[in-house]
Amino acid sequence: MTVIYQRVALIGLGLIASSMAHAMRENGLAGEIVGHAKSPETRATALEIGLCDRVFDTAAAAVQGADLVVLAVPVGAMDAIAAEIGPHLAAGCTVTDVGSVKQAVIEAVAPHLPEGVAFVPGHPLAGTEHSGPRSGFASLFVNRWCLLTPIEQSSPEATAHLRALWEGMGAKVDEMDPAHHDLVLAVVSHTPHLIAYTMVGVADHLRRVSNSEVIQYSASGFRDFTRIAASDPTMWRDVFLTNKDAVLDILGRFTEELFVLQRAIRMGDGQQLFDYFTRTRAIRRGIIEAGQDTAAPDFGRVAPPAKPGE
Ligand code: NAP
Repeated sequence: MTVIYQRVALIGLGLIASSMAHAMRENGLAGEIVGHAKSPETRATALEIGLCDRVFDTAAAAVQGADLVVLAVPVGAMDAIAAEIGPHLAAGCTVTDVGSVKQAVIEAVAPHLPEGVAFVPGHPLAGTEHSGPRSGFASLFVNRWCLLTPIEQSSPEATAHLRALWEGMGAKVDEMDPAHHDLVLAVVSHTPHLIAYTMVGVADHLRRVSNSEVIQYSASGFRDFTRIAASDPTMWRDVFLTNKDAVLDILGRFTEELFVLQRAIRMGDGQQLFDYFTRTRAIRRGIIEAGQDTAAPDFGRVAPPAKPGE
């Protein structure tokens, strides 16, 4: 692979940034990788495990001389970071972000960037429930989508370069209007997370009634809710605060559907339930055929070794 950027500055050194650092190194896509994170602990870890060649105490210092700056902080922190780095960006550099919401990030970041700097917003549709500098791995983006949402400040050349970087890290790249991105993500990611958080909250209440049964028997669907509901609280708070309209729209539709199913159960309308579940099963099949999940039973989980006496 060829070097696409001579110096990449990662602002925020958590799951997404550390996965990018590993993937860029493995594929020889960046000359030098420098970084900044809020806490001295994270900065020290990033050096210790070789995520960055150099780390800086401030974002302003980290971006100097970089030809690519990646904002990989929670969505709510983007505004202040953009204001800090704006005056220190090199002419001709590209700024991108990996935030899960696009319109709010564009509103927060774009006004702070000087002329001569391209801004190409992005969002890799890949992640885990883990966070921090040690949670990243090089293959996180392989065969996953990365959505770019170019705006007026994104030159075609800057967008093409960034596309090449994501493709070099193994991702499939598509371009989308920012408002459409936010609606699509409210359907496929944001609202499902809210539902998982709620379901785990309900079970938590129940646990107080039925002691540890909820934990003990959680090997069914509930376990997958708990995995999603273990996602980073700061990140998800910011997602709901900044993609408010789209999430409320989808949540309204979800509630209507829930009432339809609730009524079918009350009325004993088995045919309606059967037809509904047949339609949803076809959606799952479509996801597997599109290569976005495994068809293996239980998501391909390997059963943990049996404990002595089991
Ligand atoms: P993460 O693992 O929690 O890491 C966040 C990083 O941002 C940490 O290094 C943190 O530093 C740093 N940070 C927070 N506030 C900061 C500030 N004011 N100044 C400087 N650094 C700051 O988060 P992540 O999962 O990588 O998420 C980063 C972004 O990617 C978010 O915008 C999220 O929406 C998006 N995203 C996440 C996923 C996912 O599944 N996780 C998927 C796609 C996109 P400290 O460690 O010092 O606190």
